[in-house]
Amino acid sequence: MGGLAAGDKAALRAALDHALRYRDAVGDTPIKPGRSAEACRDLLGVTLNDEGRDPAEVIDAMVSAIEPGLVGMTSPRFFGFVIGGSHPAGVAADLLVSSWGQNTPYASLTGGVAAAESVASDWILELLGLPADAGTGWVTGGTLANTVGIMAARGALLRRAGWDVEADGLFGAPEINVVIGAEAHSAPMAGLRYAGLGARRIHKVAVDDQGRMQTEDFARVLSGLSGPILVILQAGHINSGAFDPFVELIPLARAKGAWVHVDAAFGLWLRAVPELAPRLAGVEAADSWAVDLHKWLNAPYDSGMAIVRDRSAMVQAMTAPASYLPKPGALTDPVDTVMELSRRARGVASYAVLRTLGRDGLREIIAGHCRMAERVAAALAEIPGLTVMNRPSANQVTFRAGDGEAGDALTQKLLAMLQARGRVFPSHALWKGRQIIRISISGYSTRDTDIDILLAEIAQTWAEVQHGG
Ligand SMILES: *Cc1c(COP(=O)(O)O)cnc(C)c1O
Repeated sequence: MGGLAAGDKAALRAALDHALRYRDAVGDTPIKPGRSAEACRDLLGVTLNDEGRDPAEVIDAMVSAIEPGLVGMTSPRFFGFVIGGSHPAGVAADLLVSSWGQNTPYASLTGGVAAAESVASDWILELLGLPADAGTGWVTGGTLANTVGIMAARGALLRRAGWDVEADGLFGAPEINVVIGAEAHSAPMAGLRYAGLGARRIHKVAVDDQGRMQTEDFARVLSGLSGPILVILQAGHINSGAFDPFVELIPLARAKGAWVHVDAAFGLWLRAVPELAPRLAGVEAADSWAVDLHKWLNAPYDSGMAIVRDRSAMVQAMTAPASYLPKPGALTDPVDTVMELSRRARGVASYAVLRTLGRDGLREIIAGHCRMAERVAAALAEIPGLTVMNRPSANQVTFRAGDGEAGDALTQKLLAMLQARGRVFPSHALWKGRQIIRISISGYSTRDTDIDILLAEIAQTWAEVQHGG
């Protein structure tokens, strides 16, 4: 006899009810959590029972301890970091993915979910204007997507230099020169560490006031290098949203035989909008791209994609040595393009989100957020005492309060008060040695009315800060 036990059924129903209630309320409740991690730990850290418990009771107890410790990342007014809002269609699909319990390395075994991931990959490549035959890997996010791209680059560059890094490792291998912008995100730096190339062994290229690589300095750095070269560019600077000038940089890199990898965690999505795509002109000429799905696509966490033009380089870097070598052109198994053997079918959620939004829905989200960012920057520039630090080229707006060191303190105070009020949630960063406030507009449900509230909150809170509030 199969079938679910009554208690297990009740647990699943309870979880769904809690999920519905939570998501229904998220716009109305304070975004900043009211319970600290320590307080949550006190409630959760009971002595582990010897006897089993009813699963629905466990779920209820967990929810009451955990929920007040959640930050409203799915709120339309969460503007911190670059955080997607976990679109309900993706959450629904994810619920099924967990329920189906598919371990997904092999398409021949779990054909249903492998097919959904395969179709979603094709859609994503098409939307982003990348080669249809590129290799794709469903990874946990941008950090791993960068790492996979860097590892594919490492293998291909060294193979060209007569070295098989997958078999023989890095000891004694020809050195790879790594060229990267002075304001690169920490994720590709992590990838360089994981790939054994080292985060410090890099050639840094000077950037302009928006964090874009300067072409002359790039050319200067390249001209001093010989041997294998890995160039890491950026589509979407974390503070300014700006894009490296791909049209100028990639041909220079090509002329030196370099592999060009692009950290495009959120910025690549502008390619899905015809009128915004020219901001990233030339990016399609790269060799590999890292893109997040849990940010601007609003797939639930954790979801990112590594994309490599030469799929065989990706497969050679990722396939476990004990496994068979796929014939060139053969359909690869999901396991062949990622580091994990066992994993959940995380791509199914992106399939659901893409089909739910459709091309137009996705374009409206991306274009709408870019328009909102321009609106926020223009409105903040009108408020005396606040300085907008970027010219929005995507969905990021960065600003600060006051001047110099005194301004740092004011900026931090303003942000702390904004977050404490609980209606909106921007986040902090250090940029050019100064404290800044970052507004990232990435949630699928953010509307202009949410931007109205954001602007009113900032104006009012800034007035309070100035009057010693
Ligand atoms: C978010 C981000 C990353 C890291 O992605 P994760 O999904 O957090 O691992 C890398 N690069 C940029 C530009 C990002 O915005």
